Amino acid sequence: MARKAKKTKNKKNKPAKATAARRTRKVSKTAAKTAAAGAFVVRAPEAPSLPVAGTRARFPVRRIFCVGRNYAEHTREMGHDPDRELPFFFMKDPSGLVLSGGTFPYPPISKDVHHEIELVAAIGKGGADIPKEKALSHIYGYAVGLDMTRRDLQGEAKKTGRPWEVGKAFAHAAPCTAVHPAGAIGHPNEGHIWLNVNGHQRQRGDLKELIWSVPEIIAHVSRLFVLAPGDLIFTGTPAGVGPVAKGDVLEGGVEGVDRLVVRVG
Ligand code: MN
Repeated sequence: MARKAKKTKNKKNKPAKATAARRTRKVSKTAAKTAAAGAFVVRAPEAPSLPVAGTRARFPVRRIFCVGRNYAEHTREMGHDPDRELPFFFMKDPSGLVLSGGTFPYPPISKDVHHEIELVAAIGKGGADIPKEKALSHIYGYAVGLDMTRRDLQGEAKKTGRPWEVGKAFAHAAPCTAVHPAGAIGHPNEGHIWLNVNGHQRQRGDLKELIWSVPEIIAHVSRLFVLAPGDLIFTGTPAGVGPVAKGDVLEGGVEGVDRLVVRVG
């Protein structure tokens, strides 16, 4: 008897489930049709942003441009000639920004994740073909950032002529401090840039050693891309890049801008 009853129950459930599925499809179709004009059909991403130092306001982050090989010593340590290259650019993903004081999650796949401490310029006024003489007027402020890099994957990409995204644009790969308005700190063009790992000095340089200055970088990048308010530009890293491990504390800074502390988690 019990067995028979169970069977009957199952038979009844099958068509009921199918009907429920049909009903759900119908409802979501109706919901999409009756949604307000312009409503998103999937959850819209949150707009990334950074705090602005000394205020409660935020700096909205639109895109992250990075300059490669912009300090002579670092260019040599990566096996290239610093005197023979025009600046070149790559991009990082601005979602999931890690703020100074936070944790950088060790990314998957790689076994060789490197730190690169950098001065970051935050664009306040966009434009194309910006002359270097006018470039500083396009900057809202500055921050200190880490261009975290899966060096092994970047190396494979270089060898095979593939894009760098797997090495550079993974999640949380751009830890950053708050943005400091140029109105408060000026436009730094000299001063120490440094990074310690667990209290030991790893990277050390001076903004004076930048091969391409911040105005020159803006002039170059704005020929290739139309810059927009909210864009960040990572300006390159001094020599001494190297691997990090889970549990490491990265502490670095740029004189006259800020100090950044990130734990590797
Ligand atoms: Mn870099």
